[in-house]
Amino acid sequence: MTKDRITLAFFVDALGSRLAGELGCFREIAPHAYRQRTILGYSCAAQPTILTGLPPSEHDHWAMFYRTSRSELAPLRHLDILPNAVGRHRRFRRRLLAAHRKRSGFTGYYNFYRIPFRLFREFDLSEKRDIYAPGGFDGDVESIFDILARDSVPHRVWNWKTGLDRALAELSETLANGPPIRFALLYTAVIDAFLHEHVGDASVVGAALKDLEAKISRVVARAHDSYSEVDLLIFSDHGMAETKGEVDLMDAIGTLGLTHEKDNLAFYDSTMGRFWFGNERARTDVAELLENMDGGSVLSDDDLRREGVFFDDRRYGELVFLMDPGMLIVPSYMGARAPRGMHGFTPDHEDSDAVLMSSAPLDPAPASIADTFRVMKGLLNRTHDHE
Ligand SMILES: [Zn+2]
Repeated sequence: MTKDRITLAFFVDALGSRLAGELGCFREIAPHAYRQRTILGYSCAAQPTILTGLPPSEHDHWAMFYRTSRSELAPLRHLDILPNAVGRHRRFRRRLLAAHRKRSGFTGYYNFYRIPFRLFREFDLSEKRDIYAPGGFDGDVESIFDILARDSVPHRVWNWKTGLDRALAELSETLANGPPIRFALLYTAVIDAFLHEHVGDASVVGAALKDLEAKISRVVARAHDSYSEVDLLIFSDHGMAETKGEVDLMDAIGTLGLTHEKDNLAFYDSTMGRFWFGNERARTDVAELLENMDGGSVLSDDDLRREGVFFDDRRYGELVFLMDPGMLIVPSYMGARAPRGMHGFTPDHEDSDAVLMSSAPLDPAPASIADTFRVMKGLLNRTHDHE
């Protein structure tokens, strides 16, 4: 006996609109493709926008780290006594993260990367709770998972905590033998990780996407066996740009002779430098240096407002320097070397665009990643075709 209707949502991190179009991927199962403008920032800002339909200034998650005088990460500052060789070692950082997850009870996605430990006195995490579960956001911000819980909609979710093959196997098993569900969302970062290392290498990228397409197609076929109607969505949060060059922003700021954490405080993401100032001289010096620097530009408050990332309390930076597409800050607190591809540049660049592919045409056509939330919500409200 077939069950009723189901919505299947596959979230493929970093699958750009241009790449998806060129390779024609998922065309057979989701022929209606819509280019979507992403938001300024990284996945830690884009995913909340997809799950809530709101800009970062409203769901409050922009960068992974924000400045506060009451950071819950402050105890980590004591690790600053470790020699760099230990403190920056990958394996050490990985074990520390695992231990921290256990002790803190934080269920959100975070990483300490290469951030100097003493800075945790002033920087805290924006995603402490799992955003793929109800109650992931502060205040009255409602995500798709809050709606599913409130309306008691039977559903399953696989986020970054489960590997792709296991998640697909569990979804497949649920579709075939599990109790009926009305909605499933499966997130995967495999393409993001792959593109960071291989973007621009057409044959290996094509093969990786073909592999993913085959795996997802098999699960979708399983859904058609068990459910009378299957609404399929495959979408992303942003694209990936090829690295073109790097800038040693830390070194440039170092030439100003300012005392870090006194005159100024900086957070070096891979494509953004964010600055706070202890005095006017530091503000003027840093602003002047950045205004004259090649490879990026200072964002005005109007720029930030237009992108939905302006915060009155300046928790994410008093001054934001954004790199030009393909230009990276190296070294940064994220890494010591430049990967082959990166995202987090202006949403106006074509390689920044995300994509949403659907088994049925969508009206109105989704044009921004925030629309993905409305599309998912709309499908949940459908019971019969042509409704
Ligand atoms: Zn990425």
